[in-house]
Amino acid sequence: MNDNFAVLNLPDEMLHISLGGGQARALLCRTTAMARAAADIHRPSSTALAAMSRLMTATAMLGVMMKEEDSSVTVTVAGDGPLGKMTAVAHGGQVKVSAAHPEADLPLKKDGHLDVGGLVGHHGRLTVIKDLGLREPYIGQSALVSGELGEDFAQYFTVSEQQPSLVALGALVHERYCLSAGGALVQPLPGCTEEMLEQLEMRSVFFSAISREVADMALEDLAKGWFDGLDMKILARENVAYRCDCSREKMERALIAMGRQELRALIDEDGGAELTCHFCRAAHHFSRADLEALLERATR
Ligand SMILES: [Zn+2]
Repeated sequence: MNDNFAVLNLPDEMLHISLGGGQARALLCRTTAMARAAADIHRPSSTALAAMSRLMTATAMLGVMMKEEDSSVTVTVAGDGPLGKMTAVAHGGQVKVSAAHPEADLPLKKDGHLDVGGLVGHHGRLTVIKDLGLREPYIGQSALVSGELGEDFAQYFTVSEQQPSLVALGALVHERYCLSAGGALVQPLPGCTEEMLEQLEMRSVFFSAISREVADMALEDLAKGWFDGLDMKILARENVAYRCDCSREKMERALIAMGRQELRALIDEDGGAELTCHFCRAAHHFSRADLEALLERATR
């Protein structure tokens, strides 16, 4: 860690980029504030924060690629590491995350980096559920490669979506504080030439330090540098942020969905219920009277 590292507060955002007149597309994003919001909510260890941040960044990129109205994407990473299952949900660039054991941590690796792969686990599954609004959800799955998440998402795109992809996910975390986070995704499209593929491969080394790169550079300038000479065009830019869309109404619906028997048991045995959202830690209290009212509405 460089002690002189300047903590800047450039805004989170996502760039949609076209390369070579549509031969490839790229997404480039800064997700620092998103990671800090997750840290405030979940109080994770440094390693867990890096893992959660990388997952949110990838999920945000999946989210902004979905065109259907009212669509959302849910990604779960179920690895065999001490962090336990992690889940992130995105509506466009609005993302939330949870982890089973955010307090879990591991010593630094020999190279001085956070052991994200160890904490997530080297074995397990990455599952992507795309809710397309009215249409049937799309469910894709792939095995974890390393648990470091960048490689795991690259594998997911290649195997499950048959879309070869370069994926870079990075979070620079120091003492449980995210200094900088971001990601990049590059996908060759039908009609991509061999030369363009070679160029993209060659330039992928630029992405390896993405968390540092996005810390103090405008994304547009970064893209200009990385994709110099490849007919780079910025198609759109959009905001990305941590946001939980839970509400008392949604929790009421969840309670009703439990059924009359379960509700009756809550009333008789506990005299009420306290529900806490996994994604924002908001607590909602339901009194005996509240539950009685819900019981009235339950049809089974
Ligand atoms: Zn919530």
